[in-house]
Amino acid sequence: MKVKSSDANIQSSDENEDLDVSDWLWGGSLGSKGTVLFFRSCVLASKDDDDDTPQTDSSSNGIYEDMMDPFGPSVCDWDSDDFDTNSETDAEQESENVKRKRDFKGVLSDINGAKTLNMPSIHKASRLVQNLPKKKLGMSSKSSSLPSSINHLESEKSAFSANGKNKMSKSLDQKRIVVPDRKKMPAAMLNIKYKTAMAETKLLSKMLQAHGLTDVESNSKDFNLMWSGLHPKPDILRSLASHQRVNHFPRSYELTRKDKLFKNIEKMQYICGTKNFDFIPLTFIMPVEYKELSSVHYRIKGPWIVKPAASSRGRGIYIVNTPDQIPKGESVVVAKYIDKPLLVDGHKCDLRLYVCVTSFDPLLIYMYEEGLVRFATVKYDKSNKTLWNPCMHLCNYSINKYHSDYIKCDDPSIENVGHKWTLSAFLRHLRNQGHDTAALMSSIEDVVVKSILSCTQSIASASRMFVPYFSNCFELYGFDILIDETLKPWLLEINLSPSLGCDSPLDVRLKSALLADTLNLVGIPAIDPCAKNETLPRACRSVNLKMRIKGCRRVHSAENMTSKKRGFSSSSGSNGNDVSSLSNEEIRVVKLVKAQYKRRGGFVRIFPSQDSWKKYAQYLDPITGVPVCNLSVRNVTQSTSLGSHNYNLLVHTHVLPNFDQTFVSNNSQSDPPERLKRYERILPACTKITLDSNSESEHSGPNVRNSGSRKSHLDSKIAKYHLKQQIQRGVHLTLCESRRTFGMFLMCVLKRISNSTSEQSAQHADLILRFLKKVSHTLKMPYTIKTPAQKMSDKDKAAVIAKQLNDFLHIYHRETDMCNDDSVNEQNANFSQFLYCASEADLEEILLAVLRLEGNVAPFIGDRTSPMCVDIPPSSSSSNVQSKDAPLRHQLLRYLAYVTPVHSRRFKPPSPERSSSLPPLPIGCNEKKKSK
Ligand code: ADP
Repeated sequence: MKVKSSDANIQSSDENEDLDVSDWLWGGSLGSKGTVLFFRSCVLASKDDDDDTPQTDSSSNGIYEDMMDPFGPSVCDWDSDDFDTNSETDAEQESENVKRKRDFKGVLSDINGAKTLNMPSIHKASRLVQNLPKKKLGMSSKSSSLPSSINHLESEKSAFSANGKNKMSKSLDQKRIVVPDRKKMPAAMLNIKYKTAMAETKLLSKMLQAHGLTDVESNSKDFNLMWSGLHPKPDILRSLASHQRVNHFPRSYELTRKDKLFKNIEKMQYICGTKNFDFIPLTFIMPVEYKELSSVHYRIKGPWIVKPAASSRGRGIYIVNTPDQIPKGESVVVAKYIDKPLLVDGHKCDLRLYVCVTSFDPLLIYMYEEGLVRFATVKYDKSNKTLWNPCMHLCNYSINKYHSDYIKCDDPSIENVGHKWTLSAFLRHLRNQGHDTAALMSSIEDVVVKSILSCTQSIASASRMFVPYFSNCFELYGFDILIDETLKPWLLEINLSPSLGCDSPLDVRLKSALLADTLNLVGIPAIDPCAKNETLPRACRSVNLKMRIKGCRRVHSAENMTSKKRGFSSSSGSNGNDVSSLSNEEIRVVKLVKAQYKRRGGFVRIFPSQDSWKKYAQYLDPITGVPVCNLSVRNVTQSTSLGSHNYNLLVHTHVLPNFDQTFVSNNSQSDPPERLKRYERILPACTKITLDSNSESEHSGPNVRNSGSRKSHLDSKIAKYHLKQQIQRGVHLTLCESRRTFGMFLMCVLKRISNSTSEQSAQHADLILRFLKKVSHTLKMPYTIKTPAQKMSDKDKAAVIAKQLNDFLHIYHRETDMCNDDSVNEQNANFSQFLYCASEADLEEILLAVLRLEGNVAPFIGDRTSPMCVDIPPSSSSSNVQSKDAPLRHQLLRYLAYVTPVHSRRFKPPSPERSSSLPPLPIGCNEKKKSK
């Protein structure tokens, strides 16, 4: 690989730039201790066809770096590991923030000056999107409305601090960086591995693989990073080596289960005063607290929002006016409905914010500077007479995307058009309306910190119990926040493993930057997992674990607080760099915290921060520094806490040198901290980042992958022909194959009914509703279908039905994945090829053929205990299977609506004799005849 000096960069701004191996590392050289991998979201950037600048394809897998990373070029500080010389002053922090952010005043003047930046209303946007061809829409968007200087300013943003030792100079921004072949990446050289489980990880896997990491089997222990959708088991945590990272803490569910979260916050309300923790709607756990709910309802009245305790994506949520509308015995949480939400152009919205916690003791909380704002499709009706309409009251994307009025924006550089905005666009809109956005963000930060404080004790003690090393675990939480009309933020829920699925270019842009920054923040050590000397033997790990637990007890015991420790607290306050009195362990912790802060990229550290001690010390146990969760220690005065030893105090003292001043002076309302300005910046002009065409969509369904490709159309026809021939010869699809085909077909229907406003689509939605009602009981996991209210418009009704079909499919797919197909060992090549590129009509044709072969019993619906049949009239239409003509479109949908249990079928199945007269099977077909 060609290496260029930074001088060369400055001289030749139009050349492509190769990056050195060290450009993909942070904090040291390849193989040295403390070095971590460095991730850039730009590796996902693909060649932009519209761009006439030549690009250098340096890799076989087509990875490109365009002008810049969406969150700024990555400028590295190579001395991050130097503990003594890297003091992290507030001034440095903030000047860095200002450097890497757009100037706040600039944002304001744009808003005031650039009229074109006015927020288009959702309806205006709707017209825009409908009336303009895509290209024009792009022109009318942010890029055209922003002065070029702003984009330039944005391009100067650096992901990391620029302390004058940057390898990449500013001029690199004008260059096209050539991403090396993944084999030449340090991660590939060091054989760094990752594994994923039960999570939406397409984007993550792309990112990791592009950086040279390889994935390993889910049961492998040789991994550097494990990313799972669920909590890892305790024995996995216990056996972690120091270089391994896992994306969950033990007992994180204390935060992420709706019922647990509320109980933890309620406990803090009791201990620390309700007014200090008054940011979560009053909640009751059913059925246990039904009586309490009823008596509270008597005083404060509804409406109430009913949610399953451990669900997401708006599944199973409904709103009621009175508790007696909630089915008795249901195990749900019922929360006070916030019925006066802040509206934007008449629409309700909520925020999705990303928060990364890298340690619970000391507590290290980072909030991502960019988030998403999700809008309900239907305008809000304040009268509470339309509580039955989820597209008005719930802002989940997974609900609203099925509404035909939902606007999805195809241009990644537009942040404020349609029903999904960025946080920064939303804040600029509010500021434009005269709201104090700094105060809003400050109270949102407060909600985030306090909700985490309320669960810290349990998670911190579980971590000491199960996690051997300080840096093993991290967690990226998705905070859902609703803002009411007084601009008060309400915490709705905290998501474990927030969705990293990308349904729009804006998603890809934001989430790829978020992921790269998360990986950098966490720090994946550049260590080969197979290098035995780097991995501690199991016995040593358990010793380490015991020491952590013992250390925790020591901290809890006041008699073990030596005078040395007391001395440290009082003497070091004025000088955060005086480490002479610290133990080796304390020095290590401070060093890690400082190094991590330097890798924070787009994250804003909100605890510890300039003002966090002043705000939150009162909630911390004066001895352990862990939040107080019982009443016995509340009498201890603050002065005692200053003289105590604890990790939170240690970190505040040693990473925030103005700590003493901040705490003692207590000047109640100074200017809002600089960091609050970061949330309002404008996203930099973006690189076109795409995943492969079908990987982005949650429900891309068939046809997406090869749409427009003539070849695939032909392949599809051939595959369908062969498959149909097979079926006509009496070859049965396996259970899995028929379920997959059927699932795919329903996905096509879902897409169709949610994207169209035609009368036919409303009729089809009704047929689907009938079908769902009849078959929902056949799922192993109970799923109840609710009939949309009669007064709903056709569009709203179709959206509600589509959402239910989506939820049905979610379970159906899961159950298909679990079904054992021991009837087939080899893959049916025709089937795979067919499924890869089939259209709705193709799927329908094959399914009808399958139904006829099976004698109208649907192998894809129901199970052995409750078999269902799709009652196709035998005489007139059975000829279709023999006929060369395609069957009538949407015929299957009509039959499905009348699916019945086998015992109550109306028509006699056709005789299965015809197969004997068929010609011999073509060679190579993997077929097995099922004995009937
Ligand atoms: P899920 O995890 O299923 O998405 P949420 O708690 O996030 O459930 O709620 C889904 C939607 O319901 C949110 O987007 C929000 O618009 C609405 N919502 C939830 N709780 C309330 C509430 N207490 N008051 C008003 N709206 C709420």
